[in-house]
Order: sequence, then structure tokens, then C-alpha cells
Amino acid sequence: MEKRELVILGAGPSGLTAAIYGKRAGLDVLLIEKGRPGGQIVITSEIENFPGVVKATGRELADSFRAHAEHFETEFREGTVQALKIADGKKIVVTNKEEIEAEAVIVATGARYKKVGCPGEARYTGSGVSYCAVCDGAFFQDETVAVIGGGNAAVEEADYLTRFASRVYLIHRRDAFRAHRTALDRAFSNPKIVPIVNSVVQSIEGSDMVEKVVLRNVKTDQVSEIPLAGVFVFVGIEPNAEFVQGVLEVRDGGWIVTSGRMETSVEGIFAAGDVRDTFLRQVVTAAGDGASAAMAAYGYISEQLHLQSLLLKPIKVFALFASSIDQDQIKLTGEAEKLKGQIGAPFAIVDGYRNARMTEKLGLQELPAMVELNSGRVVRCKAVRDAEGINVFCSM
Ligand SMILES: Cc1cc2nc3c(=O)[nH]c(=O)nc-3n(C[C@H](O)[C@H](O)[C@H](O)COP(=O)(O)OP(=O)(O)OC[C@H]3O[C@@H](n4cnc5c(N)ncnc54)[C@H](O)[C@@H]3O)c2cc1C
Repeated sequence: MEKRELVILGAGPSGLTAAIYGKRAGLDVLLIEKGRPGGQIVITSEIENFPGVVKATGRELADSFRAHAEHFETEFREGTVQALKIADGKKIVVTNKEEIEAEAVIVATGARYKKVGCPGEARYTGSGVSYCAVCDGAFFQDETVAVIGGGNAAVEEADYLTRFASRVYLIHRRDAFRAHRTALDRAFSNPKIVPIVNSVVQSIEGSDMVEKVVLRNVKTDQVSEIPLAGVFVFVGIEPNAEFVQGVLEVRDGGWIVTSGRMETSVEGIFAAGDVRDTFLRQVVTAAGDGASAAMAAYGYISEQLHLQSLLLKPIKVFALFASSIDQDQIKLTGEAEKLKGQIGAPFAIVDGYRNARMTEKLGLQELPAMVELNSGRVVRCKAVRDAEGINVFCSM
């Protein structure tokens, strides 16, 4: 099976940024993408909130992200990731074409907006139909727009859009909104917001740009039209993360849970950008996540390589595995440092908490523990309590 250092899944802003940082750090990087590199922004007509780029089309920005990653000789490969397997501590990426073993993986497969599915929605996406008020709201200064949806996102985004639009129709197919009370009170006390309930958007129509929506009342079947310039769809967003379910910890809706270093619940697997459980989903935050994930992956890979040379290469080595979050074990580590010179063989001290994979690989059940390795093979291991235990273990 092909073996790579860092495999990045998804070539949107987060994956491409991770590739740039990974390559610059000297890692062997493979980037797997199922479609055209660039991610969601490829379909965006205008972007004006990525720092340093006053205005660009989504495609221009995506192309410059890609060119930047190519400049550092990132290897791109086409493929759809179907599964992530952990077997004997190994991380295996399964695509529709092959299986690849990776030292570290960054999941950067982004998210997708749920669609209304009416005629005109796809045709006018980027030409009046939007899924992001923060991204596109400012383009509708003094215009009339509609928001479709009845949950928190729809109600809060409708309120946000009143900063720009002169009127915001809030269209919901049921007779009551699902959003929380505070958001509803704020939105309904805003004179620019006009709620329309029991109604579905039958079609979005226009010429080059959106010009109107056609509504149908689901109770009366009455059809009506609203002239407007923009339609914001907030009927839900979901992560492209089906393949990590059951492997990584996820939160409601399947969003991947990470630390600030983009670490997931599995050591050596990181997640970045829209796919993770995060506050803001934008190009700038995705890029920032990608940089953090790549540097965290670099740290992880370096540590693994260091550990391998420390533990698996020498003919004979003793190692103490102790946890860096347990006060007694931290104290024992200090005592072990002093013993190092007295033991007649190489002696390594390893943080067993941060290196859970190596701990598991060597079959250590509890910490602190001593292990003797001969050319990477475990000869014996034993739980220890104090410096005396370490001495006894090394003298046997
Ligand atoms: C219409 C629209 C307008 C927007 N406008 C703005 C804006 O003006 N400013 C702004 O900052 N943000 C904007 N955004 C949000 C922004 O595009 C996202 O926050 C950003 O693209 C997230 O980047 P990402 O790399 O995390 O994910 P994505 O951009 O979603 O990229 C993920 C990549 O992974 C690939 N992928 C997914 N699943 C798989 C798989 N199983 N195997 C292989 N590859 C896979 C996808 O094809 C995609 O290329 C907009 C979004 C949309 C939809």
C-alpha cells in the first residue's frame, strides 16, 4: 500500500492552505480532491472580505490558492474519499480508487448548503441566490431580498441583512418559526422584516440576475410574486463528513470536534475549515484552520519520527513512559532524568499521554511503565511506581 506523510482530504481554502504550510515545512504532502480544486468559493461571483484581496471572483481567489499550493509542488490527486480506517494504529484513507496509509491526515472536506430545490435556484446561485449573508449581504444595499427558512440561522441572518437591504421577506413553509425566542423577538421588532408563513418558494426568476420569487401558500394554494434582488437560502448546512462517522468524535449534525490545534479525537488526524464544529465558516477562517492543522500535523509527524529513531532503531533501549498530566508521574520523570547516566544502556523518557499511539503500539496497559526494546521489538514491560522500580527493571 502507498504510504505518505501527510494526506489532506479536500482542496478548498483550508486544504490548499494546509498544503502550502505542509510543503513549506518540508513534509511529503498528498492532496485528494473529488472535483475541481478551490472548494465552495468556486461558485461565488464576488468576494470582498478576504484580507489583502479587495475584490475578486470566487474562481480567481480559488485559482490563486491552487497556484500557490502548486508553486510549492503539492501533489494533487483526483479521488472521492469514502472511508477513514484506523487499523493497528495505522491511518488509512480509502478513496473510490485506492487505499493510502498516512502518517497524519487533515480532513478538509468542507460543508454543503441544503438546497430548496426549486427552479431557478441553481441557475441564479451567485447571481442573486446566496447561502451566506456575511458573504453577500453587502451587495444588496437598499434592495429588497428574501430569506428562506424558519430556524435560528434564517431568523438571525434576516436580522443581519436589514443592515443593508431596505426590506427582508422571511419566508417559512410552516405557520411557526423554529428559531429561539430572543432571535424571534429581535427580528419581529425590526420594521424591515416581513414574515410570510405557510409558504414555499415555487420558483426564482429573472433575466441575468434574480428579479422575483413565485410563492405558493401551502394552506390555500394561492400563488403570488414578490419582486426582489436577492434570495438567501437558510434551510440548513451539513458537513461533508459522512466518512468519519464512527471514527472521529462529531457534534450534532456531524460536525467534527477539534481542539484549538485542529486535533480530532484520534491522534494524528486533524480537521480544518467548514467541516469542523466552529463558530464562523468563511474563507479566512478556513485558511487559518488549514495553517494550524498543517503545523500541528508537522509537530505530530516530527515527534513520531523522533520517537521511532529513539525507540525502534537502537539495538537495546530502556524507556520510561509517563503521563505529562499527572503530578506524580511528572515527578517520577524528573527522578528518571537523574538516573539516565547510571544505566548502562540508552534510556529514553517518553510522554505516554501525548504519544498514546506509541504507548498502544508497544502494548503498555497503564502508566507509568518501563519497557525494554531490542531493535524495535518489545522484550519486556512493567508498570513502575518509583525510581527504585526503574532501577530494578534496568538491572534485570
Ligand atoms: C455561494 C457561497 C458564497 C460564499 N461567499 C463567501 C465570501 O464571500 N467570503 C467568504 O469568506 N466565504 C464565503 N463562502 C464560504 C466559503 O466558501 C467557505 O467557508 C470555505 O470555502 C470553506 O473552505 P473549506 O476548505 O473548509 O471547505 P470547502 O470550500 O467546502 O472545500 C472542501 C473541498 O473538499 C472536497 N470534498 C468534499 N468531500 C470530499 C470527498 N469525500 N473526497 C474528496 N474531496 C471532497 C470538495 O469538493 C471541496 O473542494 C461562501 C460559500 C458559498 C457556498
